[in-house]
Amino acid sequence: MSDHVMPTYRRLPLNFVRGTGSWLETDSGERYLDFGSGVAVNTLGHAHPKLTAALVEQAEKLWHVSNLYSIQGQERLADRLCDASFADRVFFCNSGTEAIEGVIKTIRKYHAAAGNPQRYKIITFGGAFHGRTYGALAATGNAAYLDGFGPQLPGFVKIEPLDLKAVAAAIDDETAGILIEPVQGEGGARSVGAAFLRGLRSLADQHGLLLAFDEVQCGIGRTGALFAHQLFGIDPDIMAIAKGLGGGFPIGAFLASEAAAGGMVAGSHGSTFGGNPLATAVANAVLDEVLNPDFLPAVQQKSALMRQGLAAVCDAHPQVLDGVRGEGLLIGVHCVVPNTDFVDALRAQRLLSVAAGDNTVRLLPPLNVKQSELETALRAVELACAASV
Ligand code: PLP
Repeated sequence: MSDHVMPTYRRLPLNFVRGTGSWLETDSGERYLDFGSGVAVNTLGHAHPKLTAALVEQAEKLWHVSNLYSIQGQERLADRLCDASFADRVFFCNSGTEAIEGVIKTIRKYHAAAGNPQRYKIITFGGAFHGRTYGALAATGNAAYLDGFGPQLPGFVKIEPLDLKAVAAAIDDETAGILIEPVQGEGGARSVGAAFLRGLRSLADQHGLLLAFDEVQCGIGRTGALFAHQLFGIDPDIMAIAKGLGGGFPIGAFLASEAAAGGMVAGSHGSTFGGNPLATAVANAVLDEVLNPDFLPAVQQKSALMRQGLAAVCDAHPQVLDGVRGEGLLIGVHCVVPNTDFVDALRAQRLLSVAAGDNTVRLLPPLNVKQSELETALRAVELACAASV
């Protein structure tokens, strides 16, 4: 491995050179079942023929033009995202953390445009992860990620999840909004549930706050609904998405209702690359599949099969695993052994997974994973358990 790559990751010496569907292949020809999906990115697995075709077709026409001009693919993608959600406006960027920056700016600008610039504080939650830029880091509030990076962006108030009374008590004349992941990803595949989101919605309405959901990880079909909050029947005013939207091509977005987007006028925000023709061609091809009426019911069905199988493995190996959580194909298994050891044990069975908070391991297969691949994964989990005692 080259010393010239900045060592901000603890990388494994695995060099993947090819991917097909749910499988990755190393330079030495070893095949791994990819239940990490680039951390919930490869919505349709690797080298999906329709995504490849969309990318190649667009590459032959036009890669990039500035947002100084109208971009057809971007307009189509915005229309489709709005038709399928609460939103009226979309801004495209390149990553999850940028989408969160946009959410923070939109919340603050909404109040400033309404003549209340003193309202700038955003309530966020323990165990959340929102990204690595300064605003997103402050929203995440994890000391380990902030250490050594100078003063934190002010204006974030962190509350423990599911403590609605504490949220109500934290609201004051300077509060502008609430930001939450409906299903925490990095925090350990933890669903916050309908009752808590309903409580937040009513507090936001009562106090004139904007409610923002971070669906960077749990959006785009990952939970079995197009957007996770649709599982719970609670709409936000603003939402961040990224990861699965491009199926592996970098693209992010923030979406807002017309009212919430009120302050975001010409000149208020921008991005050189955001929503360029290549990225939006691929994202439109992802939506072609995910919006197919049979797609999300199939995700739910696969989720049920996987969860049932995992629950049986937990019952058989209580000294290794003690619970299954999450929604759809954002699945967490809570470990009794250290979660990173279990990720290693799964990898020894040629199954890729991702460690998460609260001693959990995430299983994030492509959403078009085959039933036979779920069965292969369950066998690998079983074998990894047997090897972990
Ligand atoms: N928000 C959530 C919920 C995430 O899971 C992530 C990344 O893991 C981010 C934001 C940041 O996204 P990115 O790494 O694309 O900047």
